[in-house]
Amino acid sequence: MKKTLLFSIACLFAINIFAQEENELIRCGNVLHQEALQAKFPDFTENVNSRFSEAAAVAAQPEHKSSGVVYTIPVVVHVVHKNSSENISDAQIQSQLDVLNLDFRGMNSDINQVPGMFANLAADAEIEFCLATVDPNGNQTTGITRTATNVSSFSISSDNIKQDALGGKSPWNPSNYLNIWTGEITGGILGYATPPGTPASSDGVVVGYTYFGTNGSAIFPYNKGRTCTHEVGHYFGLRHIWGDGNCGIDDGINDTPLQESNSGGCPVFGSPSTTSCGSQDMFMNFMDYTDDRCMFMFTNDQVGLMRYAVENFRNALLQNAEVACDPTGGEGCHDLTEGPIVMGFENGDDFGGWSVLNNNGDDKQWNVSQGVEPEWGPRTGNECMAYTWSYTAAADDWFFTPCFSVQTGRDYELRFWYATGNDPGFTFPENLRVVASASPTPDDILGTAEFEDIVQPYNPNLPNNNYQDVTLSLPDYGNTDIYIGFHCYSDADQYAMLIDDIEMVDITTVSTENAIAPEAFQAYPNPVSELLTMDFNFDKTIENLHINLVDLTGKTIHTETRENYGIGNLQLDVSNYPSGVYFLNVYADEQMTTQKVVVSK
Ligand SMILES: [Zn+2]
Repeated sequence: MKKTLLFSIACLFAINIFAQEENELIRCGNVLHQEALQAKFPDFTENVNSRFSEAAAVAAQPEHKSSGVVYTIPVVVHVVHKNSSENISDAQIQSQLDVLNLDFRGMNSDINQVPGMFANLAADAEIEFCLATVDPNGNQTTGITRTATNVSSFSISSDNIKQDALGGKSPWNPSNYLNIWTGEITGGILGYATPPGTPASSDGVVVGYTYFGTNGSAIFPYNKGRTCTHEVGHYFGLRHIWGDGNCGIDDGINDTPLQESNSGGCPVFGSPSTTSCGSQDMFMNFMDYTDDRCMFMFTNDQVGLMRYAVENFRNALLQNAEVACDPTGGEGCHDLTEGPIVMGFENGDDFGGWSVLNNNGDDKQWNVSQGVEPEWGPRTGNECMAYTWSYTAAADDWFFTPCFSVQTGRDYELRFWYATGNDPGFTFPENLRVVASASPTPDDILGTAEFEDIVQPYNPNLPNNNYQDVTLSLPDYGNTDIYIGFHCYSDADQYAMLIDDIEMVDITTVSTENAIAPEAFQAYPNPVSELLTMDFNFDKTIENLHINLVDLTGKTIHTETRENYGIGNLQLDVSNYPSGVYFLNVYADEQMTTQKVVVSK
């Protein structure tokens, strides 16, 4: 115990020297924070150390290494802000989640900069993170909370950022969620985190708002999201790679070299200053103190320790992920046999399950809007989905339908209308593609694009609202749940892309043995504006003939019934129905057919 204390003091001294070199910034406040926790909770160090020893003892065993089983951690980000720059954007938060999901999968683009002597140690932790879609009360959520505060700067010793009563935000149940707070931290501390064994009221990760994510308020050299990667490493039990001591203190991990103290800045591999304790320092490890752009890796045994900690000390996260990471927010996927997905983007429409993704994190994204210019607008109603121009950035912007279930053997049709900017001052083409994806992200796209168009923007011969109609038959994706993504990827200084009136319909026809033969039933004209004629020519008398007309929302708007009917015709007046697609269902005893009818005026 005495020895530990001694090394803590030595470590504080080392940090202070480092702090002066780096404009009074402290890369990680964990040593300070853990002293505060020990003062508050007498069992803290003992609880943490026993868990650490248990995990470190088995970290090198193969069953805790990468195994193909990916763990998902539900995350809530608490934004605590006094001013507008502290109130960081959703895009900045998403950029941090993206970094975590790359770094903990060994998929970060800079992992190839790991020097050859350590390359075979760099490991995929097989841990992913989702912004929670369901909150502790079972309600849908973005996984982001925002709390306005009068507190200018939050103290690492009082942990007031984690408490409602002290101007912060109390955590969501820390057993079920990884709580990440962002705000202004006192003392130039970039971030701090709690290891397994921490009392619930303090458990989680804190990162200063200028070191969070990769855009917005993030500042060089801490603008690549690695402060949070480092802190989440602590949250899963990892210690600093130099063990917070000298060559006599290890980090408890077998495959990291002994290291005398923390590194800093962006060292040059092989230079004399990067060796200590008789070996090359692994200064590019996420658990060192180097700049964001100079840390790239966890090792195999670090991964083993973290996965053991997730499995044994934080496993309620994995159970909760089944609910809290459900991309439908607990709603489940649409069953199109119960009705189509229809979206006109009108005020009052149900936007549940629809999502927008600003993939390049710029200040432009798809918005429900009344259109761009007075001569521009929705195809129908008062609103449409619109992407409007950026003078400087190429578009990389998505929106996704809600999830829906598809099955082999059934037929699905996607219909939508799109238009582009109609202004002679803009000459760049608008690029749109439409894809199916297993998640509402570009990461899980299925097959190739179902639709792609590059549209020249200005055509003086086209009327305003020059919407184009697209109808697509979806290929067979097997029995699964999918989303349809609309991707605008125009070059910079583009004008606008508009989409309206999306319909996703199960158009499966019944099997032929139960289908009414085409010669026995016809409906015409189609499209129809006033009178729809239905001709019946059955080769036997139908005891019960039943007809209903259904609109795209699944609502039956007209029914007809006849008994002992064989040959003849009926007329249906559609002149009072709005233009659009309808389905005419005809039931003739045990046979049936469905015909799509377009009312057009
Ligand atoms: Zn640290």
